[in-house]
Amino acid sequence: MTSLGTASAAPGELDTGRLEVGEARDGSTIALPVAVVNGARDGKTLYIQAASDGDELNGVGVVQRVVPQLDPADIAGSILIVGVANYYAFQVAEHRNPIDDTKLNRAYPGDDTGTASERIAAATFDAASRADIALDLHQGSTSQMIEEVRVRCGTRHRLHDECLELAKVFGCGYVLDQKGPDGQLARAAPDDGVPTVDPELGGCVGWDENSIQAGVDGVFNVLQYYDFLDGRVAPRPQTRASGFDQYGAPAGGLVTFEVELGSRVSAGQTLFEVTDVFGFTKETVTADSAGVFWRARRLPHVAAGEYVCSVGTDIDTY
Ligand SMILES: [Zn+2]
Repeated sequence: MTSLGTASAAPGELDTGRLEVGEARDGSTIALPVAVVNGARDGKTLYIQAASDGDELNGVGVVQRVVPQLDPADIAGSILIVGVANYYAFQVAEHRNPIDDTKLNRAYPGDDTGTASERIAAATFDAASRADIALDLHQGSTSQMIEEVRVRCGTRHRLHDECLELAKVFGCGYVLDQKGPDGQLARAAPDDGVPTVDPELGGCVGWDENSIQAGVDGVFNVLQYYDFLDGRVAPRPQTRASGFDQYGAPAGGLVTFEVELGSRVSAGQTLFEVTDVFGFTKETVTADSAGVFWRARRLPHVAAGEYVCSVGTDIDTY
């Protein structure tokens, strides 16, 4: 049997259930929705989780589409899935867990006697640690962002090459290969020997069909490449950024972008203008370095110093 929480599947079976991660303020049990697919044949174990950030719903859309398509009779190995990781944030459609005002993806590997987020991190890290590879499905929150995959362990990590390969196999077309902050699953799990990446499935409010489809394709690419499913996949070359420049607003006002998501920018090229309420230009912001226009705020109005956009830099192809 393969089990995760109350989901338990014999070879050739799929089951769904709940994984306990703590208790709510009223004392009721908090338990994440989970699924287990136990393939008819032996093979590797894949871990997938979605909604680590509670407003990032495209990953839940991916899980919803992928799981009904999985026939355990056709699968070698096991797939462990947490459909909604950040339970508390998901309930209120916010990014961070409102109980402890924490981003779950800064709490790994977690602590099963710690804060609400640390308890979720501990329970989901425990599941991820059982896997041979892991996917932590994210998106650029509610900003606009290209579809890309993040390798967060850092180039000197012993599993860097494996993580980079996994990112290429997932195959969004773009990879950000830059060591992430402490507490990310994609940093902590490689330390535990599990190649892990963050597919970042665009950015939107609610669901974006194109981004969800990119995620579904990515999961099936992984399932085929790592021999969970029959079929061959030849990974396509990916555009990789090794740096990430973030731009803030030098003045308050309204932002007009001069470049489109995914387009190449050169150093000195205008990225955006800040105009006043009456349409007069206050500031023009240019790119410090060449790169790819990666992420942009959704709302046009900004305060001075507020986040506006990001450019992936130090671009190559692998
Ligand atoms: Zn996220």
